[in-house]
Amino acid sequence: MSVQHDPVQRADFDQYMVPNYAPAGFVPVRGKGSRVWDQSGRELIDFAGGIAVNVLGHCHPALVAALTEQANTLWHISNVFTNEPALRLAKKLVDATFAERVFFCNSGAEANEAAFKLARRVAHDRFGPEKCEIIAAVNSFHGRTLFTVSVGGQAKYSDGFGPKIQGISHVPYNDLAALQAAISDKTCAVVLEPVQGESGVVPADQAYLEGARKLCDAHNALLVFDEVQCGMGRSGELFAYMHYGVTPDILSSAKSLGGGFPIGAMLTTSDLAKHLAVGTHGTTYGGNPLACAVGEAVLDTINTPEVRAGVQDKHARFKTRLQAIGQQYGLFSEVRGLGLLIGAVLADAWKGKAKAVLDAAAEEGVMVLQASPDVVRFAPSLVVEELDINEGLDRFERAVARLAQA
Ligand SMILES: *Cc1c(COP(=O)(O)O)cnc(C)c1O
Repeated sequence: MSVQHDPVQRADFDQYMVPNYAPAGFVPVRGKGSRVWDQSGRELIDFAGGIAVNVLGHCHPALVAALTEQANTLWHISNVFTNEPALRLAKKLVDATFAERVFFCNSGAEANEAAFKLARRVAHDRFGPEKCEIIAAVNSFHGRTLFTVSVGGQAKYSDGFGPKIQGISHVPYNDLAALQAAISDKTCAVVLEPVQGESGVVPADQAYLEGARKLCDAHNALLVFDEVQCGMGRSGELFAYMHYGVTPDILSSAKSLGGGFPIGAMLTTSDLAKHLAVGTHGTTYGGNPLACAVGEAVLDTINTPEVRAGVQDKHARFKTRLQAIGQQYGLFSEVRGLGLLIGAVLADAWKGKAKAVLDAAAEEGVMVLQASPDVVRFAPSLVVEELDINEGLDRFERAVARLAQA
């Protein structure tokens, strides 16, 4: 059954949409696995993954089946009632992680909002209103609500919207001495991305996360890991904290959790969770049956030894080839990241040109991302096929060769 729609085109964006985005010049209309087609029928290989969201590519059969089944069963019921998909997904997340309790919401920003509010509430209840300070990292990204841009360490996202949330300070990332100097008994939480995503795909040093854990314990502060981008299999472990062996008190997840269907989750212990008693926090759509049914299928599909091993294997494939391309054209100074969240750092001669690289790549038929103006980012499906990796990187190399000639 196919509905006849009015024709629309890219130019309509400029006429009808709030101009807070600058989308590419073509409009994708269909996807299958790691390939996408635009309105003109042109095919592209997708290494952008909807910004680290399409963890199983496009239209994965397991996700289509889960969504279709749920679409014919129950869409929405509100939190006045609970529902089976939410209970199943919560149980599975608890079984698979440190967490004992789950709060569902609809995005990464909302998962962080819940995490930060919980951290403040716990400190308030246990130690009083003075203990409300949050320490986060310079250049971190935690979402676009006012609380999350205030915690995020990038003034360009938080300036110009009136008074920010108070009691937040920022320290350089991967600098344990700076964190040690900043933390005090007034600190209620230290918030870190185990891999800083938006600001250039920067993995934490092992000693940094271990040290942060110890400092938090010494000061009765909670350690919050924002795994919205680096979690759900992307690091090669289900969550990046498992890769490091450093367990947070609160973890936020979103992006890959829904594989393209909007969902977010905050994971924590029972002891902390009890501070969000009835009425303290909520959201209409959180734990929506459609979102949770898809999330369950994502978790079932990615949390297997085969997929995890595949991520390591594909990481090596990307890294080797990107290093070779980097060397041949003097493009990259470093290729870094964990699993299938990879950042290729532009060499001095190319600094600031990440957007030009991704535009050229799209022209050659491969979608990649930037993470700051100096880093080209790859966040493909965890089950991207070898053929697509090779063909996509061939196209990427053609784009780079063309840019290098110009
Ligand atoms: C994308 C992202 C967010 C925000 O998620 P939204 O779903 O856009 O609200 C928060 N933290 C990190 C690390 C992210 O990459």
